[in-house]
Amino acid sequence: MDNNTLGVLTVVATPIGNLGDITPRAVETLAEADVIAAEDTRRTLQLLNHLGIKNNLISYYRHNEEARVDYMLSLLEQGQNIALVSDAGTPGISDPGQVLIQAATEAGYVVTMAPGPAACIQALVLSGMDTNRFTFEGFLPLNKKNRRARMAQLANETRTMIFYEAPHKLVNTLEDMQETWGAERKIALCRELTKLHEEIVRVTIGEALAMYEEVPPKGEFVIVVAGGEEVEETAELTNEGIVAAIQERIDAGMRLKDASKEAAKALGIPARDAYQIYLDSEK
Ligand code: SAM
Repeated sequence: MDNNTLGVLTVVATPIGNLGDITPRAVETLAEADVIAAEDTRRTLQLLNHLGIKNNLISYYRHNEEARVDYMLSLLEQGQNIALVSDAGTPGISDPGQVLIQAATEAGYVVTMAPGPAACIQALVLSGMDTNRFTFEGFLPLNKKNRRARMAQLANETRTMIFYEAPHKLVNTLEDMQETWGAERKIALCRELTKLHEEIVRVTIGEALAMYEEVPPKGEFVIVVAGGEEVEETAELTNEGIVAAIQERIDAGMRLKDASKEAAKALGIPARDAYQIYLDSEK
């Protein structure tokens, strides 16, 4: 394949509320592409009008994704540059995009990105929870059985979890969450991000349920749930194992006292003992 004569697919993130969040690169890509593939052409037209851009739009949405792919690849083959956008945020993140991106990369075309807003990342950062390790769960399955199975899979998840949810299903989802992780688990409800009524509610699952049962939720929500406590395998609780558990935490930047406390908690032994065993190992 001669990549110089082939078109490039650029994934373009668009604002999730505040139009000021469009990046100069996104504007340039939308203006210069030969064609813009949009989830909803009417919605993207509004954005283009706001930006003063006139360009060719074709529709690429959930239900024609598969059928459209060959046509899109043929455009790339002819040397046409495609900009891919969804209604809001990052294409491919709970939005159409993945099928085309996968097909284009597999066929060897250049795929690049004009990055920008994604509600999940913004919510994670604003939640104030652990951002070192997290899992994006998107929308939970609608089907009851699949939903139960997903919640069961997540019951012992220790990473911070990010979910998308529609306002009219929020209370139901909070009930499922309470059943899975208990009322005391920390949760952040990130509403209307980047918009006039942006609001981050950092409470427990039980408190969130009480709040939204009283006042029905409105607007767009991302739910961020704290991961569960790490439970370490304690099949063989040796001094070496205890020292290793403390050392692991020191290597990750913790002070000895804190590392001993946390390791001891995870291993179910007194912090004093863990600390002493570590000191002894250094002699
Ligand atoms: N592709 C988008 C992204 O990059 O975030 C997500 C699209 S998905 C169809 C829509 C869901 O994203 C909403 O139901 C909500 O959970 C979340 N969302 C999108 N915009 C939001 C905003 N401004 N504030 C809070 N949540 C938002």
